[in-house]
Amino acid sequence: MTTLAILGGGQLGWMLGLSARALDVEVRFLDPSPEATAARVGPLTVASLDDLGPILAFAADADALTYEWEGVPAATVRALLDAGCTVRPGVDPLETSQDRLVEKTRLVALGIPVAPHAAVDDLPSLRRAVGEVGLPAILKTRRGGYDGKGQIVLRTEAEIDAAFAELAAAGPLVLEGFVAFDREVSVIAVRGADGEVRTWPLVTNEHRGGILRRSRVVGDDPRLEELAVEHVTRLVTDLDHVGVLTLELFVVGDRLVANEFAPRVHNSGHWTIEGAATSQFTNHVCAVLDLPLGPTERLGAVAMVNCIGRLPDPDAVATVEGATLHDYAKAPRRSRKVGHITVTAPDPATLDARLAALDAVLPGDDG
Ligand code: AMP
Repeated sequence: MTTLAILGGGQLGWMLGLSARALDVEVRFLDPSPEATAARVGPLTVASLDDLGPILAFAADADALTYEWEGVPAATVRALLDAGCTVRPGVDPLETSQDRLVEKTRLVALGIPVAPHAAVDDLPSLRRAVGEVGLPAILKTRRGGYDGKGQIVLRTEAEIDAAFAELAAAGPLVLEGFVAFDREVSVIAVRGADGEVRTWPLVTNEHRGGILRRSRVVGDDPRLEELAVEHVTRLVTDLDHVGVLTLELFVVGDRLVANEFAPRVHNSGHWTIEGAATSQFTNHVCAVLDLPLGPTERLGAVAMVNCIGRLPDPDAVATVEGATLHDYAKAPRRSRKVGHITVTAPDPATLDARLAALDAVLPGDDG
């Protein structure tokens, strides 16, 4: 039987595991936490992601390895490749996405527009960067930030010193011009080992407090869609990426400005489980195991709502037609993603009505 070994065992790993099992592929996970939720779908090795001894033992005899977290140390992936393992995606997409400055430099080199930005290594370089980029701007850590963590909005020069003091300990920084966007979108692509690229329809994403709250398939702007597909296709091809990759973009008028990419399946693609002909999870498993990719078109109108902090009552969700709750089996905690709900409908107006019905049964915002 084919075996896929997955570095990371969170909800993304769990959903990859469900798709793998449906394809008759065995999965195993390695995660630093004994509580990793993916253990529900395959055996779990508890080890640090930079502890090469257990990682090489975990990888032994697997047909391929993949990762569900972009924080996996690049040195770990390199060591696995040196040991002769098949790791997909490889080290280039991982390393590039781990450093916001390297990532932006790569996007610019590919002709994909990004926000004005400048490297920040100390207070004088931050002052220079503010001069170049202008205000408002966002000061971000180059590495390790997620869900809006590790970033501070700068509105006036008076805020420069305090912002620098707060983030400087996290290592090198980057200052980005604040993009006055109309909305945020993401495009998800899968690329096979043979270079074939398929993309899912563009989705609009709503964030609050830096955390994704809702995604909805757009389908109303073919020109924007075409541009996004062109950008993401160029990116996965240049990175020689194998598997799923997600590109997050800001829409500004009729332009797209790239924010960042994740070399993995993504929260804004969870809708594909019920809402697309083939899900991002299934196609990722197919790509990394060199199996044929499935069709990616959507099935009607679709949206996805994240459950943040705590889950709603499953019986209440079940009263909403077209709604499917995915429970990550994680303990409730403020700002934690503990599940998501996909809502499908035959047309946008019915989807609106179903989303309104869902809103009425969801618990209040946890912040
Ligand atoms: P990130 O961690 O870079 O994905 O940022 C989290 C969220 O902060 C994004 O989804 C945006 O809502 C917002 N954000 C990040 N960078 C910018 C920017 N340069 N201009 C405006 N908003 C931004």
